[in-house]
Amino acid sequence: MMKFVRVALDVPLPTLFDYAAAAIHQEDVGRRVLVPFGKKIAVGVVMELAESTSLSAERVRHVLSILRDVPALPSDVLSLLRFCSEYYHHPLGAVVLNALPTRLRRRQQLKLEEKKAFRITDAGRTFDPSTLPVRAQVKRELLALLRKTGRAIDEAMLYAVAPTARSNLKAMLTLGWVEPYACSPALASVAAEVSQTEGPALTDEQKITLDSVRSRHVGFTPWLLMGVTGSGKTEIYLQLISDVLRRGRQALVLVPEINLTPQLEAMVRARFPSTAVVSLHSGLNESERLRGWLAAQSGAAGIVLGTRLSIFTPLPKLGLIIVDEEHDPSFKQMDGLRYSARDLALVRAKARAIPILLGSATPALETFQNAMTGSYRLLTLTRPVNAMPAEIEYIDTRNSPLIDGMSQDLLKAVEATMHRGEQSLVFINRRGYAPVLICRSCNWTADCVRCSAKLVLHATARRLQCHHCGHHEIIPAACPACGNHDLLPLGQGTQRIESALARTFPAARILRVDRDSTRRKHAWQDMRRQIQAQEVDILVGTQILAKGHDFPQLNLVGIINSDSSLYSTDFRAGERLFARLTQVAGRAGRGATRGRVLIQTEFPQHPLYRALSRHDYPAYAQELLAERKQAGFPPFVHQAVLRAEAPQLALALKFLARAAEIAGDLNAAVTIYDPVAASLVRLAGLERAQLTVQAHSRTTLQKFLRRWHAQLCAVAERKVRWALDVDPLEV
Ligand code: ADP
Ligand code: ZN
Ligand code: ZN
Repeated sequence: MMKFVRVALDVPLPTLFDYAAAAIHQEDVGRRVLVPFGKKIAVGVVMELAESTSLSAERVRHVLSILRDVPALPSDVLSLLRFCSEYYHHPLGAVVLNALPTRLRRRQQLKLEEKKAFRITDAGRTFDPSTLPVRAQVKRELLALLRKTGRAIDEAMLYAVAPTARSNLKAMLTLGWVEPYACSPALASVAAEVSQTEGPALTDEQKITLDSVRSRHVGFTPWLLMGVTGSGKTEIYLQLISDVLRRGRQALVLVPEINLTPQLEAMVRARFPSTAVVSLHSGLNESERLRGWLAAQSGAAGIVLGTRLSIFTPLPKLGLIIVDEEHDPSFKQMDGLRYSARDLALVRAKARAIPILLGSATPALETFQNAMTGSYRLLTLTRPVNAMPAEIEYIDTRNSPLIDGMSQDLLKAVEATMHRGEQSLVFINRRGYAPVLICRSCNWTADCVRCSAKLVLHATARRLQCHHCGHHEIIPAACPACGNHDLLPLGQGTQRIESALARTFPAARILRVDRDSTRRKHAWQDMRRQIQAQEVDILVGTQILAKGHDFPQLNLVGIINSDSSLYSTDFRAGERLFARLTQVAGRAGRGATRGRVLIQTEFPQHPLYRALSRHDYPAYAQELLAERKQAGFPPFVHQAVLRAEAPQLALALKFLARAAEIAGDLNAAVTIYDPVAASLVRLAGLERAQLTVQAHSRTTLQKFLRRWHAQLCAVAERKVRWALDVDPLEV
């Protein structure tokens, strides 16, 4: 009998597509298929089988082939993808295909070499690894792993030991230390034996925290681990991962930007030498990513470390999810499918009935509120393990003149730190030389031709650059408007601070760390080594430097230009600033001495700064929550934003006005705001506007969005592109 399949295809239509298929079985749900689509052949994923179709007989087309080269997507991932599509109102096909590694989105059948395993030979067993050169670390690890297990180990698991494991294994094969072994399916799960290196003796706070988590029966339990910087959250993660591995399960660890946190990866590998650790992030090439993904899917990888997209990785034995720095905005994708990986992690944990741990020094207010109401269980670590909390002081810039953005007090502190042979960091959240180039005589400014933004002056690249669209141009010799030659750079960026410091301290070794200076592959790795080897006296840096890096000699942090977020119109600005400053301040004083943080500000009495110097995020968060409640902002309401862009603002606004009308006619318990221009109106040649809607309950909002979205799809407005952003981080 003829069967039908409903196939997800990467097209911007919110439907599945029916095809006829002869020899297809229930096990093929979740598999890739090749199907004719229009005049082309497309890769799709079978979402379900069906006995019939609403298509007329002559319109039904046939599946061309079923790709059985890799295992099917498991049902829990398919459900997560469905949920994601429905909740974020994004076409299911696009959601599904987007979650696959690129190689699997191609039409070619994957030519995976036959699945192999390796086991140790007698020669490999008797060989003394200590005679290997020091840098042969990977060989040593592979040998140790193979010896320990004694049995054959799946190649995917071995390759996951290190990026160079494959070539090392090949060399070991030539040396006769290992031999290939035909793979049997049972081999995939070797995780039963977990070896691990000793961790530190736990602090009392860490013990209490772990006891709480362990005392709960397994099952869905969301935990918020709120721990000040340096309080040993990572150790909690490692301990919990160890529990999970011992039960033969897998752990998924989500991190905001993995290429910035190689330390975590190294720590995890060092702690669990016999466990395959897979990392999944955008820095990998296609086959590395695919290999990691398959190791996760086969169950061979015990630990998966990844950025937001890895939330969709198939993990048959998933036992725990950890979201590190859960407040970080990069868990939310800002274009295309605008999903929050943190929120999906909760959905996935619930569906799999497993615990999930959200970790942060400064949790998102949404998360914090959930912990306050008891929806999440709260765990706190209040003290840094090895150091005193940094001392935070303010330099009142109303009575201290700034030269190139820096006060005398700050410069003196930098000098004193240098004399003690210690390192300083000057933090400024803006790269380039100066954010504005202005003509002194007619006030002309250098603006981006494609965006409503100023061009940033970059001294090293000798050009003006748009930080929004990437447009760049040469620095004009004279004002294009009046011909005056006196063009003035206004304000500070990292490059300007760097050169000002170089002028003040000619003997100092200064290192600038920002997106420009770390663009080259491995650049940041080299810089970290330089910093750790004490080849640097003063660091000038942005956000990149703020995240979880341990520099024991860094004892002074100076922060300039943080005031601008204090009185922002964005209601999340305070929360974000507190998080950022906490992270930066946390860089100071991780060694023996107490760190010192100097913040230049015009508002030293601001509640944010006062709470910051007391290291009291909970109190400040309570204050912010009270304000949000009063003003009717999230987390007390739920929002969605309809974003529209068009060649002219008027077109976008017209579309949104129509959308607002439709929304009004739906008579839902939803507040509909007026359409407004986006704060950055022009971006890359298009003009943008938005319309916010909000409701007191998530369910009400979702029901409304479903009906609204369906009707909006019927409004054909040429030249206008629009998208819904559910739980937006920017409104
Ligand atoms: P967080 O992630 O909370 O900012 P970390 O996990 O990075 O803190 O811990 C800070 C430092 O303390 C790290 O160098 C870590 O190795 C160390 N550490 C953690 N727990 C302990 C402990 N129980 N005893 C000694 N050192 C510890
Ligand atoms: Zn001019
Ligand atoms: Zn631009």
